[in-house]
Amino acid sequence: KTIIDAHNVSKTFNPDTIPVHAVQNVHLHIEEGEFVALVGPSGSGKSTLLNMMGGLDSPTQGTVFIDGVEITKLPENRLIDFRLHNIGFVFQSFNLIPVLTAKENIGFVLQLLRMPRVKREERVLTLLKEVGLENKLNSKPGELSGGQQQRVAVARALASKPKIVFADEPTANLDSKSAENLLNIMAKLNKEEKITFLFSTHDQRVIRKARRVITLVDGKIISDIEQTPS
Ligand code: ADP
Ligand code: ADP
Repeated sequence: KTIIDAHNVSKTFNPDTIPVHAVQNVHLHIEEGEFVALVGPSGSGKSTLLNMMGGLDSPTQGTVFIDGVEITKLPENRLIDFRLHNIGFVFQSFNLIPVLTAKENIGFVLQLLRMPRVKREERVLTLLKEVGLENKLNSKPGELSGGQQQRVAVARALASKPKIVFADEPTANLDSKSAENLLNIMAKLNKEEKITFLFSTHDQRVIRKARRVITLVDGKIISDIEQTPS
């Protein structure tokens, strides 16, 4: 089953002054359950492409279907709602709310999803267990290591049970041991819960774990290969 279907997607920043063609005529087809690395030099358009696939940014041209829904034609309020229910995001800089505990950072999303309090408590615990942090429920981001913060961010991304998670350089701020641990958790979620992952990275050790590697240069896909993860 197709989960991402992007057709002829382009993004040009500053079209009226000094145009930057960040993404150019990209076609992308990803099946449910894939574990895909998006690689390429800095400035090649990885973030822009991820943001457009995830409905955080709109293309200047082209269409994006996520799980059969054409997100590029949804009005903003419907798009926000679709994102909240169907898409998880993980960012390089974790983006946790510093004044909230791990539990509250995740509970907050469940509250947006209108989950009742008792169910919320249960779900937060399940999610934190999945990333090995059930003992850090009441810790604030500042009290956690980078690796632990990113694991909270992954748990938060999974709060709505999305079929797909986009991760933009999720290991960029992690030491190699934490990076490997994070990738192992993502691979486990991919395998056991069939969650599709599309993550950008520079890190060779992370690229090795992917089953498909898509390379972007100057906003264009220059290669798309299947590999055996190691
Ligand atoms: P990557 O994630 O591969 O480093 P980006 O998607 O961040 O690449 O950037 C692709 C190109 O688009 C770069 O030339 C970058 O400077 C440009 N760019 C990204 N975001 C903006 C923006 N908001 N306004 C103008 N140019 C941008
Ligand atoms: P940090 O989070 O401190 O950057 P790691 O993410 O590598 O570092 O994890 C720190 C320790 O937590 C590891 O040595 C490991 O034993 C334990 N740990 C990490 N992930 C899990 C998990 N999913 N389940 C249980 N224990 C874990």
